[in-house]
Amino acid sequence: MPESVLLNVGFLGKSCVVLVCLCGVHIIVALFLYLTESPTKFTNYRQMPSDSTLVIVTSQTHRIVTQYDNGTVETNVNKLIYNVTVLESCPETSPLLVGPMRVEFSEKVDLDVVRKENPQLVMGGRYKPGDCLALQKVALIIPFRNRDEHLKYWLHYIHPILQRQQLDYGIYVIEQEGQDTFNRAKLLNVGYAESLKEYDYDCFIFSDVDIIPMDDRNTYKCSSQPRHLSVSMDKFGFRLPYKQYFGGVSAMSKQQFQKINGFPNNYWGWGGEDDDIFNRMTFQGMKISRPSGDIGKCRMIRHSRDKKNEANPQRFKKIAHTKQTMHTDGIKSLKYKVINIEKDQLYTKITVDIGKP
Ligand code: BGC
Repeated sequence: MPESVLLNVGFLGKSCVVLVCLCGVHIIVALFLYLTESPTKFTNYRQMPSDSTLVIVTSQTHRIVTQYDNGTVETNVNKLIYNVTVLESCPETSPLLVGPMRVEFSEKVDLDVVRKENPQLVMGGRYKPGDCLALQKVALIIPFRNRDEHLKYWLHYIHPILQRQQLDYGIYVIEQEGQDTFNRAKLLNVGYAESLKEYDYDCFIFSDVDIIPMDDRNTYKCSSQPRHLSVSMDKFGFRLPYKQYFGGVSAMSKQQFQKINGFPNNYWGWGGEDDDIFNRMTFQGMKISRPSGDIGKCRMIRHSRDKKNEANPQRFKKIAHTKQTMHTDGIKSLKYKVINIEKDQLYTKITVDIGKP
């Protein structure tokens, strides 16, 4: 082979090696820029002048790195702004309310149907309106044991009502583990404590599992005074059984609940705990607020007295001493052990060991 040809091949080979090296350097530079300038994402929450409006702006920056055939590298920053949501406060009175409703317990409830009928619910029985900011964050607490059929009726009726009331809410079924004597008020204390571990609730509704409101204008919300909601039950001939009655369904804000040191922990068996709560409120200078008898109508599912929830013979003596006991017995001295937490689309069920009398 002539020497000039050999010389050319050597030159070409060297040129190729240099070109490959240059490409390698460009790829490394491009990779370095890409990795160090990864997209940034941030969300801006801005409170508008009127505190009833919240604007959420989400934006994202992308750095685009282009390498051209001639080896030059170009970087561009693209800023995308998207997803602007404006939420007004929900109105004081929801426009979705329908007023008096028919409540009956003749047909069995299938929870799968209830799940399908409430597609907006989030796991754990949680909901908030999509088109306005709810005025209150409400935890509904149900003391529970062996009442599955009642719970089905309650869930069937209550979810659509609470959604029409435009509440940001969660359902907490607090189940007493074991077969020892039932303790309603202690379970309610547990519900208060456990629900607050999940969300910043500011209002708590304490409801028996067998009481259904008959009018959705009876809003499951808190007011400036503790509120009694089950004011005219069919069981009592649609009247209050007595003026101080605070049983069935009641509502208390976090501040009100804390002011009375929550509920008593040592009322085992049926009766008296709601009277003790009434005493606590009175001793702290509070007054009960109530809806009118018309709006406050509710139906109770008839049933026989549960086993291990016999009337507590000590209740009269205990009620007479609320003033002395309320500061030492309550939410501050509450002790229990969580055994299980079940999350369903319709509720959060927390099974607890609360001890025995
Ligand atoms: C009991 C209450 C009960 C009320 C209505 C009273 O004697 O102490 O706990 O809610 O009766 O049944």
